[in-house]
Amino acid sequence: MDLKISALEYVRRVQNGDISAEDFVLATFDRISSIDDTLHAYISISNKDDIVKQARDVDDRISSGKRVGMCCGMPISIKDNICVYNSKTTCASKMLKEFVAPYDATVVARLRAEDAIFIGKTNMDEFAMGITTEFSAFGPSKNPWNTDFVPGGSSGGSAVSVSAFECIASLGSDTGGSVRNPASFCSLVGYKPTYGLVSRFGLVSYANSIEQIGPLTRTVSDAAFMLDIISGHDVNDDTTINNNETGYLKDIDNTDIKGKKIGVISEMISKDADTTVVDATWRAVDKLESLGAICEQISLDMVKYSVAAYYTITSAEAGSNLARYDNLRYGYKFPIDGYEFNAYISQARRQFGPEVTRRMILGGFVPSAGHAGRYFLKALKVKSRLIREINDAFQKYDFLIAPTVPILPFKLGEKINDPISLFLTDLNTVTANLTGKPAISVPFEVSDGLPIGMQIMADTMQDRQLLQAAHALEKTVKLPEVPIL
Ligand code: GLN
Repeated sequence: MDLKISALEYVRRVQNGDISAEDFVLATFDRISSIDDTLHAYISISNKDDIVKQARDVDDRISSGKRVGMCCGMPISIKDNICVYNSKTTCASKMLKEFVAPYDATVVARLRAEDAIFIGKTNMDEFAMGITTEFSAFGPSKNPWNTDFVPGGSSGGSAVSVSAFECIASLGSDTGGSVRNPASFCSLVGYKPTYGLVSRFGLVSYANSIEQIGPLTRTVSDAAFMLDIISGHDVNDDTTINNNETGYLKDIDNTDIKGKKIGVISEMISKDADTTVVDATWRAVDKLESLGAICEQISLDMVKYSVAAYYTITSAEAGSNLARYDNLRYGYKFPIDGYEFNAYISQARRQFGPEVTRRMILGGFVPSAGHAGRYFLKALKVKSRLIREINDAFQKYDFLIAPTVPILPFKLGEKINDPISLFLTDLNTVTANLTGKPAISVPFEVSDGLPIGMQIMADTMQDRQLLQAAHALEKTVKLPEVPIL
């Protein structure tokens, strides 16, 4: 069974009767059994019998001419901070090791209604805080391109599962780049929609004012296909935009970018960026120009403060969002006897790993009386100015481009004890979150066996145009295949 197919190709083959959903799901299970001990994309795998039954039901409906949903039994993986009914949702944390989700997240319910099959929950940095998956309480995932390297994060397991053919597509969450970063490191498409386009109901909140769920896929068309299913207004999430726009896939081939104006963001290819990555960016610019786009270098002054503002704001939100994990409302088995109340809570919260602990401490400090003016309020000012700057830029430019990550994938362990250098790796991705703009990472080159992704950003609600531009760029590249393990 050829597992190396796109979501759209899968749908076509199943509908034509070339392959059966059951065979495909079984082959995917075999792949996971043979490879996942090495790669650790998954935290949990769904029950095989249940899933095979679902796939068989899809096959039966196809052969008897009954209605089948758009996904046709496609195996999809879900990041372990998104609720799937009756499945564990651990957020890669010991704190939620035994937590079983009592309902489906809206995105999951929508995929389920289209006959997607949820094959497993993927590894991540604890509570989505990190950029390598090394902060998972259950051990890191490995990059299928080279298992000595990190796959990116925090949705690293999602990227690995798609990249290593352990499913067809995945959903991750992107607070500061967590979909786009691992997509870039694993040579996949990663999409962060306009804030409010996709429901966050059933996503465990980290920094809810800026995060979005987004797909990780093999092609831009697959990302559009997923977006068609998961996007749209949701009564359970008041931050969703009420316009029910769909049809992202329908228009995807409208890739004429002749005359479109594209800004190349100087601060994202600055002296700290890897020269290999910067050179690749100029080659991407050449390609876009050869398609008739007009590219110019531009400056977004606030970008240099964006990472500091991002970590200040997200830590404050995380401090409040994670306050519920007190081991009373949510938690693990840890007897209360013999403890005074506060001592119990603080002992219980020692289950958090080092990165979450760091954010909790920061998140308590930055908005506190006496310090808020210097840190939290200042960060909010940076955010407002960044929004103003980017809105001005979009008056003039249709798209903005930069490498998704300013550096190449690095080795496991290389930066784990250097939080500042890990934070700086987010330099090119956090702007889209702080401003709510849509952004996509498109696989662009592979340098010495290590993938490089290009990021394109567009204005609010220009998701359709953004996917078309990304598809135009995608069509200009021919990449090597991931080495098969
Ligand atoms: N690396 C960033 C952080 O740790 C981004 C994480 C994310 O997007 N979830 O906060």
